[in-house]
Amino acid sequence: MKVSIVPAKNFMNKSNLTGGFTCNPYVGCMHGCIYCFAKFMLRGRDKADVWGKFVDIKEFPNYSIPRNTGEAGLYLSTVTDCYQPLELEAKATRKVLEAVKESNLLVTILTKSKHVLRDLDLFKSMKSIEVGFSIALSDEFAEVMEPFASKPSERLEALKTLKANNITTFVFVAPIIPYITDVFSIIDAAKPYADYFMFDSLNLKHPDNIKGILNYVNTYHPELKTKFEDIFLRHDHTFYDNLRTDIIAYMNRENLKYKYIYD
Ligand code: SF4
Repeated sequence: MKVSIVPAKNFMNKSNLTGGFTCNPYVGCMHGCIYCFAKFMLRGRDKADVWGKFVDIKEFPNYSIPRNTGEAGLYLSTVTDCYQPLELEAKATRKVLEAVKESNLLVTILTKSKHVLRDLDLFKSMKSIEVGFSIALSDEFAEVMEPFASKPSERLEALKTLKANNITTFVFVAPIIPYITDVFSIIDAAKPYADYFMFDSLNLKHPDNIKGILNYVNTYHPELKTKFEDIFLRHDHTFYDNLRTDIIAYMNRENLKYKYIYD
């Protein structure tokens, strides 16, 4: 793993994605998920850099919070995982949380890492925080697709611990991989410990992602090859449209809260 310390401008930036502010304490992510939507961060980097094999630790000039943040929240993170294993020693995320803990910002953490529990003491002392896990796969599928993230079963255990400590929690069922993600089993397993859910489809905008997923399917599930090509090469939305209808019906029937579902 190539680790560098790089100077960065502001530690919080306005985000069109979240409507509030976002902070990415790192560039790159050692979890190395084969479908990672953040691979566009490779643009302009050394051609030898491979996604999942480098991490830049950002060095912020200061941790000043912009004035008039109003109702805006702070989201960690959009293009990295703020609790990837390097965080255990680098503590770049913890420094950000220490800086905002007295503020009124709602801090939202989204991770695939059990290491988030290291900061449970800090979360308990914060005014407004919620912690969520992306979970979309069984341990078996995740071993190949999310090779260096915590196992989904470990994320679920961490979710339980957070809930037992009265932290607001959520589960982001994403990315939903057609015919592989068992959405309803994930909802059922997480619902006692999650305050709300979100759902997203697989975003394959980066050409490497399409290649990665199709290679995976060809290797492990050749019987799904045509179905995946229909969805991701010929843009047939039927699978995701039908699933969306089923998820909404299920959430309503079970009286479960969700804040976002893909279109
Ligand atoms: S954890 Fe998130 S940012 Fe990291 S490689 Fe996986 S999808 Fe990308």
